[in-house]
Amino acid sequence: YSTAAAHENPITPPVSVQYDKLLIDGKFVDAASGKTFPTLDPRTGEVIAHVAEGDAEDINRAVSAARKAFDEGPWPRMTAYERQKILLRFADLIEKHNDEIAALETWDNGKPYEQSAQIEVPMVARIFRYYAGWTDKIHGLTVPADGPHHVQTLHEPIGVAGQIIPWNFPLLMFAWKIGPALACGNTVVLKTAEQTPLSALLVSKLLYEAGLPDGVLNIVSGFGPTAGATLCSHMDVDKIAFTGSTDTGRIVLELSAKSNLKPVTLELGGKSPFIVCEDADVDQAVELAHSALFFNQGQCCCAGSRTYVHEKVYDEFVAKAKARAQKRTVGDPFKAGIEQGPQIDGEQFEKILKYIRFGQEAGATLETGGDRHGTKGYYIQPTVFSNVKDDMPIAKEEIFGPVQTILKFKDLNEVIQRANNSVYGLAAGVFTHNIDTANTLMRALRVGTVWINCFDIFDATIPFGGYKMSGTGREKGEYSLKNYLQVKAVVTPIKNPAW
Ligand code: ADP
Repeated sequence: YSTAAAHENPITPPVSVQYDKLLIDGKFVDAASGKTFPTLDPRTGEVIAHVAEGDAEDINRAVSAARKAFDEGPWPRMTAYERQKILLRFADLIEKHNDEIAALETWDNGKPYEQSAQIEVPMVARIFRYYAGWTDKIHGLTVPADGPHHVQTLHEPIGVAGQIIPWNFPLLMFAWKIGPALACGNTVVLKTAEQTPLSALLVSKLLYEAGLPDGVLNIVSGFGPTAGATLCSHMDVDKIAFTGSTDTGRIVLELSAKSNLKPVTLELGGKSPFIVCEDADVDQAVELAHSALFFNQGQCCCAGSRTYVHEKVYDEFVAKAKARAQKRTVGDPFKAGIEQGPQIDGEQFEKILKYIRFGQEAGATLETGGDRHGTKGYYIQPTVFSNVKDDMPIAKEEIFGPVQTILKFKDLNEVIQRANNSVYGLAAGVFTHNIDTANTLMRALRVGTVWINCFDIFDATIPFGGYKMSGTGREKGEYSLKNYLQVKAVVTPIKNPAW
């Protein structure tokens, strides 16, 4: 991804919004209540479209459709190869409509169009190809049990999967969720985030065009406490996968426990350390730490939001990190070369500004930024704090915005202890060319992903998920299939043990 792209983007908004209803049983339908809610353009705060607002009754309808598609429909019964072909055709259609999908994603979310068009939508197609490849490689084992018994395991789809996704990567989260669920033969009810309902509807239309049987994927736009909570409590939903905040994750788990104890996978918050060791090439480390934090307007659960820098290179690092942040291009995400668009909405915008005030009040040094950018929309200046201490709120809590916090450390054991002293354990970045340091850190850090001399590498094959309060379960890669399969042990006596 080059920020120096000189071309004019092929698509600029407004693109039209074709799909604004709920997608239930293969058809676009109004909410039972007839209600709609507005989805906003984060560049201006203006309404893009009024979208059907699903609530409890719509979730019930969607679950019935998914249940029927699972219990009676062709999807779990067709050959794996047929399922594979549908997923592959879907990936082809995503590629064909790449620019249109990317424009809708940027319009609803505010992320740079080049990021949507060149990274995220292609990655969505890649994820579906990856999971298409799994469909005919999912199978059980023959087990060498004691005694005269033939024992085998069947790996069966779990049933109706309820999935709830956030607004920061609307389409990627959609792909991480439905890819493995569908590959394993499940049916799905997915609730999108209320801030970003649009792209999932467009893409799901393409999935039906690719041949998905009715009712296999149902999309309900709507709010958490109504549509989301009903899905989590539903007695006919066999599994929940959730990505969002740790506070909401706790509610999701409770709702499952209070209803039918459906298994829950959670991908929650983070406060990931990015550790710059004493041997670092400072220029390279600054660039990587910068993108680790500022990517996607800082709205990443795994953002490198605690930048620990060895005291030997600290002063140089701070000066260069400040200069890099000042060079960051902020503006209309549809313009070429823009690195940073607006935050998602007014609520996040205010929350980030509040944390910036907390940082100043706590005595951290505001090196650059600290305020809104421009006068309309939800843009925030790239902000850098140095002299940050571990007990400051900006070093402990998730800011989810373009605010880099730089902390100084002296030795490896100290930084391991400090990096691990968090309720979160999602990811970490390590910047060193010393193999012993890298080996020590990769083992010592209690996190789900360690990126060494890189960050935010999200290949379809790599499992992603959290330790501690960052969640449970893994998405992407082979590990994600476990979330969507039941294991059935089948035991039959062997009448003639001699054979
Ligand atoms: P954020 O604060 O970043 O919006 P949330 O965790 O609130 O994060 O949102 C992530 C997803 O969870 C969204 O789709 C949202 O609608 C949904 N959600 C919010 N509250 C609930 C709830 N009580 N039950 C189920 N889902 C919820």
